Amino acid sequence: MEFTASAGRFAPSPSGDLHLGNLRTAVLAWLFARSTGRRFLLRIEDLDRVRAGSEAGQIRDLERLGLDWDEPPQRQSDRLERYQDASGRLRDAGLLYECFCTRRDIAQAASAPHSIPGEYPGTCRELTETERAERRSERPAAWRLRTPLHRFTVQDELHGSYQGPVDDFVVVRNDGTPAYNLAVVVDDAAQGIDQVVRGDDLLSSAPRQAALGSLLGFATPYYAHVPLALNPQGQRLAKRDGAVTLSEVGLDAARGLIFDSLGLPPSLAEALEAFDPQELPRGPWVVHPTTVGQEALS
Ligand code: GLU
Repeated sequence: MEFTASAGRFAPSPSGDLHLGNLRTAVLAWLFARSTGRRFLLRIEDLDRVRAGSEAGQIRDLERLGLDWDEPPQRQSDRLERYQDASGRLRDAGLLYECFCTRRDIAQAASAPHSIPGEYPGTCRELTETERAERRSERPAAWRLRTPLHRFTVQDELHGSYQGPVDDFVVVRNDGTPAYNLAVVVDDAAQGIDQVVRGDDLLSSAPRQAALGSLLGFATPYYAHVPLALNPQGQRLAKRDGAVTLSEVGLDAARGLIFDSLGLPPSLAEALEAFDPQELPRGPWVVHPTTVGQEALS
């Protein structure tokens, strides 16, 4: 077998059982990686939102679907030093600054005229050393990127060339924990991941992450942001929608639903043969949990 260092991955947060939409994204990540001769890795993103037992449950469900990976799963909580090294490098390069804003401060500043929704308004960017010393006695600081880039473009298999804003986002939270945007970038680079397949709720995060990666000297991965699963009301599928996990739906039915929604035969081996990213449905997957039926939009 030809060895290639490049890899794809699935990176669940162990906050509960995976639902049909998460499982479908995992299947797609595996198909994208395997159909391009890449290694496939599993990463447990456990820096927050951890529920006891869910890591083991998620791994078991992925295995039941037939997915395999090339290394033991890595856990982010075991890799804190790497994130500290990376944030230290950014700090040494003058690319981080302390931010003392509460959520409320940000919401108030962001409602001012000319502000861009969701973007940090830059309140703490130019604080003087005296001001910072004063604020430090009030509350611990988060560290934000002093972004020199403002916009960044990534290439996405399903969305084409995608450009998005890069604001001064948080890199280290005010409890000292690395922010998700830092951890994901450091891990993808350290694990040789050059293909990122995940739900399209994260598409708008990709320019920020790729920009951060470029400041750390990492190559930008190639992305495929795949459609999310929705409930019949058009909201993101959730566990409260009914029978949506593998144990609730049953393996055969879940497999049938997932592969059918992708227009692929219901076994992983056959699906791999038939897989063509260009043929994937582009709209969200509407799941009807009570009838265990589904339809694809568009
Ligand atoms: N851990 C994230 C989630 O479960 C996914 C992050 C990623 O794939 O980059 O939503």
